Amino acid sequence: MISHDLHRREILAASEACTVERCDGCCIVHVHFGAATVRFTSEAFAALCGTLNSALARQDAKDRVRAEQPRGGGIRFQ
Ligand SMILES: [Zn+2]
Repeated sequence: MISHDLHRREILAASEACTVERCDGCCIVHVHFGAATVRFTSEAFAALCGTLNSALARQDAKDRVRAEQPRGGGIRFQ
């Protein structure tokens, strides 16, 4: 029989988008996103966060470049 006392979850972070909890008993990270919950080992969660941060940084860089480019690809018709 599994004791729920050993599987107490602590909220690591929460926002309107998602909530992240970690179980003290088994060290599993629970990511609640809308109606979906995905569970990760600590190592898999760290890897996911690293990948997401890299993707966000790349997206931000691409958005900055796009915002600096003149509209119409820089070709002007007079
Ligand atoms: Zn647990």
